[in-house]
Amino acid sequence: MEHKDLVIIGGGSAGMAAAVAAYDAGIKDILILERTEFLGGILNQCIHNGFGLHEFKEELTGPEFLTRFVDQVKERGIAYELEANVLSLSKDKVVTYLSAKGKTEIQAKAVIMAAGCYERNSGAIGIPGTRPAGVITAGQAQLYLNEFGYMVGKKVFILGSGDIGLIMARRMTLEGAKVLGVAELMPYSNGLNRNIQQCLKDFDIPLYLSHTVTKIIGKEHLEAIEISQVDEKMRPIPGTEQRFDVDTLLLSIGLIPNNSILDQAGAIPSSTRGSKVNQNMETSIPGVFSCGNVLHVHDLVDYVVEEGRQAGAAAAAYLQGKEGKSEARIECVPGNGIGYVVPSWIDLEQAGDSIPLKFRCRKPSKNVYISISFNGKEIKKMLKLAMIPSEMEIMKLPKNLLDSNQGKLEVSLVAKGE
Ligand SMILES: Cc1cc2nc3c(=O)[nH]c(=O)nc-3n(C[C@H](O)[C@H](O)[C@H](O)COP(=O)(O)OP(=O)(O)OC[C@H]3O[C@@H](n4cnc5c(N)ncnc54)[C@H](O)[C@@H]3O)c2cc1C
Repeated sequence: MEHKDLVIIGGGSAGMAAAVAAYDAGIKDILILERTEFLGGILNQCIHNGFGLHEFKEELTGPEFLTRFVDQVKERGIAYELEANVLSLSKDKVVTYLSAKGKTEIQAKAVIMAAGCYERNSGAIGIPGTRPAGVITAGQAQLYLNEFGYMVGKKVFILGSGDIGLIMARRMTLEGAKVLGVAELMPYSNGLNRNIQQCLKDFDIPLYLSHTVTKIIGKEHLEAIEISQVDEKMRPIPGTEQRFDVDTLLLSIGLIPNNSILDQAGAIPSSTRGSKVNQNMETSIPGVFSCGNVLHVHDLVDYVVEEGRQAGAAAAAYLQGKEGKSEARIECVPGNGIGYVVPSWIDLEQAGDSIPLKFRCRKPSKNVYISISFNGKEIKKMLKLAMIPSEMEIMKLPKNLLDSNQGKLEVSLVAKGE
């Protein structure tokens, strides 16, 4: 069996940022395992711009952004292996992967999980009708178009108004397809406001809120879809059906952390479908860390790399014996109006001076306070004029506001005036 100080699973933005941070903190025996032919992850297919505004203070395309991290990995001589598909991780940190040389096992002293996320597909929502070709996820269409140069269709409808769907509405239009519309089940969009403007409104693509696809029509290939309005319980309203003759239906109906390896290793799962972590991104398995979209789905890659760095620095501290031994004791929970909170636990003895709390609201909210309470007492409050579920919030909590290493920290929304 081979041995490594640190093995990183996934060579996307999170994995590369983690590797660089661990290296810079003194860990040199690192191996990044990446299952595709390239480092960079999903950003390889995101050829539009808008990346890096926080990180580099300039607007880059996905490939430009990732190249800067690939350069940092290469400048440091950090080892990586491509086409190396990790199959499993054991609780005692044996990483098993498959590559051209066969099956390899590595005993790692620490592991960072950075395997990204995957898209929900048509099987997850069971649309009535036939099962013809022409129904694919928006990310898959993005891959075909941007990496392989294939147009997946000419007359397109999009189900789901997440960012990838919105970006693909614009991308397909620019490539000459006719995008007839985007249907969104919720009464609000799940994409960033800037993408609604730049990808739909600027191209006169209609957004049908509170609508869903209720029928798929076609034998060998998709010929048409039917959409219907839904009521407040998301049930289609009879009589509101509209038919669109299209050859392609793109699905942009959610991203799910690709966390099965950590689940099988026994890490405690979280409500994001990633694993529970403490403020240092360490899971319930000591020495196993998680960051990026495998932990919780991010809207901006800039925050992914920040989290990767946090995991890399914490893994280095663990390997250098600088990590404290106490158990994490403050439990972080979502309260009124909040979907989830990362981290799940805080151990004050191991925390820096400021602890980033990341969370999302459940539905669009205006004029609300984000309220943080600790053991029932409000310790921080911030007014937000508007919040939407598609935008992750980050609040930095000064450590000195927590006067005990035990209890419950709750993030909730309170209407202004209450
Ligand atoms: C289809 C799609 C489009 C997106 N478009 C945008 C966008 O336009 N703008 C934006 O800001 N964000 C976008 N995102 C979000 C984007 O994923 C994040 O911003 C960020 O790039 C995620 O970085 P990551 O390293 O966590 O994940 P990824 O970039 O997904 O990297 C994970 C890496 O892990 C590898 N991996 C997975 N499993 C294994 C395994 N078992 N063994 C070895 N390697 C493995 C994968 O091959 C991949 O390279 C998009 C996401 C998706 C899914």
